[in-house]
Amino acid sequence: MDDEKRYVECAEHGPQQATYVCRHLVESLRTGKKVGFWWADDPDNPRPDAWCSACEEKVQETGGEWVDESESFAGVTLLCGACYDRAKKLNLE
Ligand SMILES: [Zn+2]
Ligand SMILES: [Zn+2]
Repeated sequence: MDDEKRYVECAEHGPQQATYVCRHLVESLRTGKKVGFWWADDPDNPRPDAWCSACEEKVQETGGEWVDESESFAGVTLLCGACYDRAKKLNLE
């Protein structure tokens, strides 16, 4: 298994772990509105791919499988690890 870490350069936080979240979670950082927080079952990754409740509903419509429709709805976006932590805190509180 290749566990090469990937980094992203955040304008606010500098070099950070690269994480992937749905665009609604990114938006929530801007608006401060809670959208829910769900994440992939990935015990090796302290910051697994994450998405909001609306995306979770989409995925449940197709039996819990990510398909083209839910993926395009999610519009997964690269986010820095520190921003990820902030989104997680905001949406889980
Ligand atoms: Zn979403
Ligand atoms: Zn950041």
